[in-house]
Amino acid sequence: MTAENRLQEIRKEIEVCHACPLAKGRERSVPGEGPARVDILFIGEAPGFHENRQGKPFVGQAGQFLDELLKAAGLERSQVFITNVVKCRPPNNRDPLPEELQACQVYLDEQIALLQPKVIVTLGRISMGKFIEMGRISSIHGKTHNVNGQKVVTMYHPAAALHQPALRQTLIEDFARLKKFISADAQAEKPDPTPKPVTKTDQNLSPKPINELEPQPKPQATPPVELVKAEPAQRETPKPPEQLSLF
Ligand code: SF4
Repeated sequence: MTAENRLQEIRKEIEVCHACPLAKGRERSVPGEGPARVDILFIGEAPGFHENRQGKPFVGQAGQFLDELLKAAGLERSQVFITNVVKCRPPNNRDPLPEELQACQVYLDEQIALLQPKVIVTLGRISMGKFIEMGRISSIHGKTHNVNGQKVVTMYHPAAALHQPALRQTLIEDFARLKKFISADAQAEKPDPTPKPVTKTDQNLSPKPINELEPQPKPQATPPVELVKAEPAQRETPKPPEQLSLF
């Protein structure tokens, strides 16, 4: 089965899912949307009022602002996949409960495994928490992280700017830097058209350290839950996700 077909199947499973109590209050679940082949996956928190009615992600005021932000990053909606950590609206837009996040994560994990995005952009602290458990969004917004080989960029949720207008400009600037990051990544992937002969000096060079802007190997399609969780604190020398230096 192709990734596209499986993504369609997941969509149908989400539409009839009753794995957590959020199913009772929903009008429509919101599986997410976008092409099956994308470089960038945006992950928000949960559907809101308008999303619940329309079954589409980010269609309210926050969605309109997200469209502006995508433009600032040189992107169109048609180029990216957009989804949420939970696919049904929590009552009164409250934060999803841990058990709801747990029940719904199987869908997001499989979406990530199928899409294999080069970059995951988290929108807000709830989706950030899937990848970076101990992070504070006010400290790491606009930052790029390497989480077990997966590039993750942590952003404020666009809705935050609706409640705190001062964050609007912060978000625009963070997304503008995302544009630079994406183009630097694309440049790093271009093969050198003029192959150089290997010299003795080259052979003697020690292994090149990993450049933070070079593409990281894609994660295997193993259960992404392993891929996304930070090391538990009690292990010896806990290593926080590597923070890249671009931002
Ligand atoms: S939030 Fe997720 S797990 Fe809960 S009912 Fe909706 S699709 Fe199912």
